[in-house]
Amino acid sequence: MIDTGRLTLMLTELRLPTIKAVWLRFTEQADREGWPAAKLLSTLAEHELAERASRRIERHLSAAQLPAGKSLDGFDFTAVPMVSKAQVMALTSGDRWLDEGANLILFGPPGGGKSHLAAGIGLALVENGYRVLYTRTTDLVQRLQVARRELTLEAAIDRLDKYHLLILDDLAYVTKDQAETSVLFELISARYERRSLLITANQPFGEWGRIFPDPAMTLAAVDRLVHHATILELNVDSYRRRTALEKKRGRGRPATRATVKTSATASRRDNAPEDGTCDTGDTQ
Ligand code: ADP
Ligand code: MG
Repeated sequence: MIDTGRLTLMLTELRLPTIKAVWLRFTEQADREGWPAAKLLSTLAEHELAERASRRIERHLSAAQLPAGKSLDGFDFTAVPMVSKAQVMALTSGDRWLDEGANLILFGPPGGGKSHLAAGIGLALVENGYRVLYTRTTDLVQRLQVARRELTLEAAIDRLDKYHLLILDDLAYVTKDQAETSVLFELISARYERRSLLITANQPFGEWGRIFPDPAMTLAAVDRLVHHATILELNVDSYRRRTALEKKRGRGRPATRATVKTSATASRRDNAPEDGTCDTGDTQ
């Protein structure tokens, strides 16, 4: 007979909480079914490892500070025909571009889905084992400015190294006084060719002059960012506005504008443009 009390203590001491939780169940099953001893040992080890991996991902997920409910599953790629879903899915496997410290830049007008897509990519990367931090650019710049005042900017930037991907949402919202301290430039330089950035911006590079203290620095920053970068343009109307419009349309046209249709054209009617000038089918 073994001393189960001592076994429990040893598993605690060895930091094997999962084996501690499941050993009894599996040893009983092994006895009942006559498992080879090695099968029991490897089953227990597998359980400990799987549990560790999922705890790690949970930790990384809470550290990532991703906005809630923005996954790629919930992202409608048909709304952004210029963005290839296959390309985005390939990016979420991480490996190459994150190893090389390459960047991803999402451009587009407000409401076009930049933040959602960025968060969805971040979430998928965390699920694939990468470490990600999502932040509004102005929030991070503010934190780095505090660090600079306390003469700990370098250490603060170093601490961000543990994130394979740093998502800077809304770069263009950096204010003039934030730009002047150039902490953003130092962050970009420090990560160049080592650690990746995902940047969203509603303004093209040409308008980035406000974000950095002078034109030379703007040029240098853009140069480093785009040297190894994938650029996706979400040049679409606001998703919110579009879905609101579609909902309105979905309620149907007012009765005063309704036209009498035969049942043969009824399904076509559903796709009619709002102004009612659609082809009713009887001229074909
Ligand atoms: P942006 O960051 O470009 O201003 P958001 O990502 O914040 O735009 O999108 C605005 C809202 O519309 C969010 O609630 C987002 O989830 C939703 N949205 C935008 N594009 C899509 C899309 N293609 N599929 C699903 N939801 C979308
Ligand atoms: Mg946004």
